[in-house]
This record gives sequence, C-alpha cells and structure tokens, in this order.
Amino acid sequence: MIPVTKAFFPPIEKYQSQLQRIWKNQWLTNRGELVHELESELRDYLNISNITLTTNGTLPLQMALNILGGQGEIITTPFSYVATVSTIVWEHCKPIFVDIHPEYLTIDENLIEAAITPKTTAILATHVFGNPCNVEVIEEIAKKHQLKVIYDAAHCFGVTYKRESIFNYGDVSTCSFHATKLFHTAEGGAFICKNKSLNHKLFYSHKFGHNGPLDFYGVGINAKMSELQAAMGLSVFPYLGEIIDKRKKIVNWYNNYLDASKFQKLKIRQHTEWNYSYYPIILENEEELLRIEKILNTEKIYPRRYFYPSLNLLDYVEYRKKEVSESIASRILCLPLYVEIEKETIIRIAKLMNT
Ligand SMILES: *Cc1c(COP(=O)(O)O)cnc(C)c1O
Repeated sequence: MIPVTKAFFPPIEKYQSQLQRIWKNQWLTNRGELVHELESELRDYLNISNITLTTNGTLPLQMALNILGGQGEIITTPFSYVATVSTIVWEHCKPIFVDIHPEYLTIDENLIEAAITPKTTAILATHVFGNPCNVEVIEEIAKKHQLKVIYDAAHCFGVTYKRESIFNYGDVSTCSFHATKLFHTAEGGAFICKNKSLNHKLFYSHKFGHNGPLDFYGVGINAKMSELQAAMGLSVFPYLGEIIDKRKKIVNWYNNYLDASKFQKLKIRQHTEWNYSYYPIILENEEELLRIEKILNTEKIYPRRYFYPSLNLLDYVEYRKKEVSESIASRILCLPLYVEIEKETIIRIAKLMNT
C-alpha cells in the first residue's frame, strides 16, 4: 500500500534515549528541559529570533485569532486545510473568503482590498503547500487599513523567502508538527511572533497566563507542548537534512517521469527556497481526476484530494462563490510523497498516470 504520506519514524533507540532524560528529570510537561532544547535547536535551524512550541498547530491559530481577531471579519483563503477556517468560526469571528491565484494557489492579494469592511480585523492566509503568499503586498494592505496579519504556515517548515524564514512574516505565523508534516513531534505546533508585546501575550496565553505559580499575566488557555512530544521532535530533528534531501529527490523523480502535458503543476513563488512538502497536480477536470485516482487505487496507491472541498462550501460558513478555488479544489490531487518511497514506485506511478 502506498499512502499519500507516512510519518517519519526515527530509530526507536533515539526516542528511548530522549525518554531516559525525561525519566531522569522526572519532568513531563510545563516547559521542561526538552521543550527548551527543541525551541533552541529550531531557532538556530530556522534562523529566527523566537519560537514557542505548542501542543498542536490549531491552538496557536485559535490564540492568534482570539487576541487579534476581535470577533470581527477575517479575510481568508478558501483553499487550505479546514483548520484555517474552522478556527475563525470557533473564535466567533466571521470568515470572509477571497479567491486564490490560479497558479500559486495562495490568496489572491489583488482581491483583498475589495473585501475589507469596517468590521475587518485581520487577514489569515495560508502559505499553501509551503508556497509563500505575496507577503509584501499583504503587508502593505494591512498597514494601510490597520489590519493584523496571521499566517497559517503549517506547511512551511524550513521555507525561506528572499533568504529569510517565511515564519518571520506577518504579525504571527503558526506551524504544525503533526505526524504527517515534514518535521513532526507526533502532535505539535508552534507560533512565531517578532513583536515583543504580542509575543509576550501569546506566550503567557499558551500557559494559562501563569507568571510563576501565583501570579498571572491575563487570561490564557493550555497549549503547552509536553516533554514526550519534544522528545519525538529531538529524535526527528537530526534527520531533517536527510528528510528534505529525500523529498527533493522524489519531487525531481516525479518531475522527470510524469508526462507534464497532462496537468498543471504548483507554481512556486520567485525568491522561494521551497521545502518539497507536497506534490500537487492540477488536472483538466474532476472526471480526469477521478479516472487517475481509480487507476492508482486499483494498484493500492492512494493519492489524496488536498484540499477538497473548497472551504467556502462548508455548511457552517456563509456561501459566496469563489470560482478559482472551487475549480482547483475539484481537480487537484496530491501524489504520495514521504521519505521511504523508492524510485521504482515513482516510476510505476508515473507509468500508470501517463497512460
Ligand atoms: C495540519 C494543518 C493545520 C493543523 O495543525 P494540527 O497540528 O493538526 O492542529 C492547520 N492548518 C493547515 C494548513 C494544516 O495543514
């Protein structure tokens, strides 16, 4: 069976040796030694000034929206994982969808201003498949209209734009370290915020506001990463170079063996150092997608329809037609991409698809 993705498992001895540290410390959570160490490793690796680890990638989105969204209208993309939009609704804000660019698949920055109303408080955009949004134009618009910018950067681990970590853009960026993501801690996530006072607020919010055992900096929730999660992260971390190299190889194999005349590929924005996180292909129409999917499924190969449906079609949001997103969502397929895939498998997938 060839799934669309498969979690990376470090050698079990590596995880065991991290667990031994936890047993020795007798410390399971509340920002222990391993969480601090992983934060420090990630800061250096990503070349960013701060990162706070969280228990998953959804809670930092919720926190950012709770603090910056003000229960107002949030301009967002209909083409993302459901968490981008469900968190907006969960935090009692209203998603206002802006259609996507047909090649980059990120929010179409040229349509944002027309969607702004006096109730708009923030823009929440996804660097989908690790492809950066037009961060410069979005920043200009946000400044002009005094809006906050939150980036769902769940797919962006290791991505740089103009030689700078993509996590450095926007008021807050959030990431996910879920098992299926490029770098993972089984479940996990992070927020990155360069603004000192906002970072302070987010940081204390993620641990109930605790400033020591008796004092509080305002209201908070619990989004702390545990030592067990950090142990997984520290076990996976040394393999990052290997993980990204192998993914790059797989992407190149697909590029070499697939007949590119049959579909459209994701266009990566200029000045981007990409992370090879997904291999989406956009087919001519949904029938063609279903045909390809069936051919592959018969051979026990399971690509996945990321992202379907277009999120403006969710039954808990107000429907407004978003032509590009609905069209792309109906005919985009992500092909299997994970470290263990062999070249022969890619050749086999390509052969099946080229016929
Ligand atoms: C994975 C993902 C999330 C959610 O992250 P979790 O760690 O699973 O909570 C949010 N947004 C996007 C775009 C994702 O792909």
